[in-house]
Amino acid sequence: MAKIVILGGSFGGLTAAFELKRLLGKSGEVTVISDDERFVFLPSLPWLIMGYRSPEDITLNVSEILKPKGIDFINEAATKIEPDKSKVFTATKEIPFDYLVIATGPRLSFEEIPGLGPDKGYTDCTFTLDHAVKTNLSWEKLLKDPGPVILGSAQGVSCFGPAYELAFEMHNELKKRKMRHRIPILYVTSEPYAGHMGVGGLKNSKRFIEDEFAEREIKVIANQSIEEVIPNEVRLKDGTRLPFKLAMIAPPFKGVPAVAPLGNPRGFIPTDKNYRHTKYPNIFAVGVAMAIAPPEPTPVPTGVPKTGFMTVTMAKTAAATITAEIRNEPLPSAEELSVVCLMDMGDTAALMKAYPVLPPRQEAVIKGGVHYKWLKIAFERYFLWKIRNGLTNLP
Ligand SMILES: Cc1cc2nc3c(=O)[nH]c(=O)nc-3n(C[C@H](O)[C@H](O)[C@H](O)COP(=O)(O)OP(=O)(O)OC[C@H]3O[C@@H](n4cnc5c(N)ncnc54)[C@H](O)[C@@H]3O)c2cc1C
Repeated sequence: MAKIVILGGSFGGLTAAFELKRLLGKSGEVTVISDDERFVFLPSLPWLIMGYRSPEDITLNVSEILKPKGIDFINEAATKIEPDKSKVFTATKEIPFDYLVIATGPRLSFEEIPGLGPDKGYTDCTFTLDHAVKTNLSWEKLLKDPGPVILGSAQGVSCFGPAYELAFEMHNELKKRKMRHRIPILYVTSEPYAGHMGVGGLKNSKRFIEDEFAEREIKVIANQSIEEVIPNEVRLKDGTRLPFKLAMIAPPFKGVPAVAPLGNPRGFIPTDKNYRHTKYPNIFAVGVAMAIAPPEPTPVPTGVPKTGFMTVTMAKTAAATITAEIRNEPLPSAEELSVVCLMDMGDTAALMKAYPVLPPRQEAVIKGGVHYKWLKIAFERYFLWKIRNGLTNLP
């Protein structure tokens, strides 16, 4: 029986685990190792910050959903991989594997910018449940004691969507509360222009975002690095000083320490089109943990986002490839990655679609409409239901 170990219990890890078990049945022993017992539907964290969701609304227990499918779960962090010996280590265990799937997501590298982050710095963050809960408290505080808001992304970020969503959502909520005139919103980003999103823009995304922000009087400073953050002030590399009452700035991303030695200088894992490590044929990497080269050099470093949609596609391809190899069947041909994303804009939303993800493209769409907001709400419920029941084979 083939022994497959999966690191990470989120979009990539759970999809890979359910797909492998479904495809291999009794001929595959599948084990998920994750330091977090929770699956959090991360795309809803901006809604949690705004007070529209509670942690319980968007969280599932990983061990409870894996057990009925016959998938083992180890609730520990992987600390090291020995690729030549095909072994993973945790603090208490040494786990051999025939195949390994790495889906460990990002390490949030706050320490690269002095004063950044909610733990040792002065800014808030939306990338983990615990940080989002804290940001919700900062938001509540801001409503009682209004002042300037800074939202955006530092140099080295590769997930831009949530900062845009929060800018739109905060604007909308403040308008409803008749407080918008007391809280200026500034969007500061490493992207060369608003709407670049780390993918070289998407059709007319530059004009789309600029127009929508102008409509809402959200100011933009683009193409900038952050030098440091001190209490109530962001300092840019060009000397500009920006006061704030609440700042939510996405930190640079790196690979997590346990897998980083297998990766590029920032710790992301290089793979082929089937998500197989370029050096170790029985190791695969999917989602944020794997490396995608940027489409173009940007003056301030930015990374390519690996969205939930992309991560799920990668995990399915990796699972199908491992299954084919175990069964001595022809490997599935890996298609170019595409992306579909629904960006919340407060009272409306936008559909973003691209095939392939990076230019030049066959297809690119960006358009707004309130029906995309309803679709986004419905998708949250659908995806949580799908994961709770291990039905990752559904679209
Ligand atoms: C606020 C926010 C909003 C988003 N909105 C959207 C959206 O609207 N649409 C969209 O498509 N995508 C969105 N995304 C992106 C999407 O959430 C990611 O693409 C997806 O989470 C990537 O999944 P992953 O499995 O690669 O990594 P992650 O989701 O980051 O999961 C990593 C997993 O690995 C575990 N782990 C980490 N280190 C170790 C270790 N050493 N040992 C064992 N386990 C470990 C973690 O606990 C976690 O379970 C959003 C992301 C965020 C943060």
